[in-house]
Amino acid sequence: MKTNRLKNKILLTLVSVILGVATIVTLYNIIHDKGQNDLRMEEAYQNVRLNYEESIYETVHFYTARAHSNLNSPGVMDAILSRDHDRLYQLILPRWKVISNENSSLVVMQFHNADGTSLLRMHQPDVFGDPIALQRPMVAYIHKHHTLVYGFEEGRQGLALRILVPILNQGTYVGAVEFGLSTPFIIDKIHRHTGYDAFFLVKEKILGTFSHVDRYLAVGEYRAIDVDPELVPLVKLYQSKYDRLQDTIIKYKNQTFAITTVAVNNYLNQPIGAIIFVHAAPDFWEHVLQMVTATGLIALIMMGILGWMISRLYDSISTQMNFQQMYNQTILDAIPSPVIVTDGHQLVAANQTFLAYFHYESVLDFKRDHACVCDYFEEGDTHDYLMPMLNEQRWTDYVSDHPLIDHKVKITIDHKTTIFDVKLSVLRFQEEKRYVVIFTDISSMQSISMTDPLTGIANRLHFTMVYEHAINVAFREKRPLGVIFFDIDYFKHINDKYGHLAGDKVLKHISQVVSKRLRKSDIFARWGGEEFVALLPDTSFEESYQIAETLRQTIEAENFEIAGKITCSFGVAMLEENESADMLLKRADELLYEAKASGRNRVIRQELRETH
Ligand code: GH3
Ligand code: MG
Ligand code: MG
Repeated sequence: MKTNRLKNKILLTLVSVILGVATIVTLYNIIHDKGQNDLRMEEAYQNVRLNYEESIYETVHFYTARAHSNLNSPGVMDAILSRDHDRLYQLILPRWKVISNENSSLVVMQFHNADGTSLLRMHQPDVFGDPIALQRPMVAYIHKHHTLVYGFEEGRQGLALRILVPILNQGTYVGAVEFGLSTPFIIDKIHRHTGYDAFFLVKEKILGTFSHVDRYLAVGEYRAIDVDPELVPLVKLYQSKYDRLQDTIIKYKNQTFAITTVAVNNYLNQPIGAIIFVHAAPDFWEHVLQMVTATGLIALIMMGILGWMISRLYDSISTQMNFQQMYNQTILDAIPSPVIVTDGHQLVAANQTFLAYFHYESVLDFKRDHACVCDYFEEGDTHDYLMPMLNEQRWTDYVSDHPLIDHKVKITIDHKTTIFDVKLSVLRFQEEKRYVVIFTDISSMQSISMTDPLTGIANRLHFTMVYEHAINVAFREKRPLGVIFFDIDYFKHINDKYGHLAGDKVLKHISQVVSKRLRKSDIFARWGGEEFVALLPDTSFEESYQIAETLRQTIEAENFEIAGKITCSFGVAMLEENESADMLLKRADELLYEAKASGRNRVIRQELRETH
């Protein structure tokens, strides 16, 4: 469960990282492409505008030159000065034929008198003498200012680019010659240069009654002129979306068109409308959608592949780790002595022998009750036992720093004291430190010296070891602890009378009798010679005395075969507060001495203190 959560966490992080990277990459691309796209659109616009301006400039230049060559041909100036309509027509006609042939959009060539009347229309020779300047602002303008003037203006032939060139006779203004080019001229020119389709949108109010305008193709106050029939649906779409002129992107028949508007001004540089350019353009947002889809797909595939790989890798590693753990545990469990792994503070692992010895099911159970195995370490009668802290060092560090000493610990479980030899190896990995500690039971090796060979009961060494522990427990748990010392009366006589072997038999016999009378938790040992000691944990003063008295009576009543009747003298003492082990024994011994001195075969107990 826990491992799966970790795996999910890793996978979630992976997904977030891939999604994050994909998002950043996509955003970067979108921003970059948007810039590129804007640049392309701007370039298209500049291209169209320059082309338009260049076309106008070139056309004005061209027709100014044409005007001068006409005016300079023989007889033309005279005909103008004499306002001879027919003569002028005759002179210009061959030229008109040539120039109107070379450009089919040339729809107007007209001579104006300086008084505002029309002298000659080459395109309409029968109509003349009318006060045209009254209707046509550009004509009025040139009569007033006598300078070249050009621009789009509505006239009898509809909207046209008109170029009016002043006619000067020896510096005197005598009239003007006008060329008019219909709008397709400009539109075709731009198409040839840029490949873009275009049409005019002109303010309705400047269009006169002559114009052949499609009044239904309108955008706000603007009306469309000369729209290619193929573009009509597109214009209608534009018309349905906008009521003002503006650059935009229009989707039509699964294609995207950029609509670019270039302002068109009249001869006074006042806006009268615009040329609308239509050109196929890549749909930026479609491009974005494609990009996002592609990146998303790649991210998805990557997440799938990497996720699968990580998942497999994770599973295999965790299986290996589990195996490694089992392997380690098996090795630990194979060792017959208690073995632990600790970080110096807490238990990390332990083998079965260790757990069985301390009566725990698992390492966790052990850790619940004890921070350290050193909780169990006991002080010995000598100073060669390990303590949790030694010379201000933790026991693990102390042992690893003193590899040449034989380290021992004393642990008592179930009133059974065991002495362990401690062997420690240190495992270092990066900052981590682990101690592998093997506790080898060496008390069994000492068990021969722990038992009295004659009587089979504990000997003095064994007694002193257990005695320390019993005192510690009594103090810690605030329980009473009684000590009985007894000695066989006149034992020397028995030896003397019946021999040493008989004496030995008596010693064995007494040991058996007393052992039977004591509890399992009591500790009974041969102190030396014919002197015995019994330790009575959790036994009150009164009980201790009673036990001693019972022992005395039992021995007295017992029949010792060859030796016959035997008695013993007893001293009974209780552990007092802050008393040392030695002091308690000394007091018990003194009481025994008192029993001897006051006649033998009796129990002497310590005087009751006032506080008892
Ligand atoms: P008291 O009543 O004052 O205790 O007199 P006692 O004779 O018992 O005391 P004493 O200390 O004078 O004599 C003890 C004797 O016990 C001396 C020694 O030979 C004998 N003894 C000590 N150990 C053994 C042993 O293991 N076997 C035998 N057979 N005798 C022993
Ligand atoms: Mg004696
Ligand atoms: Mg003695």
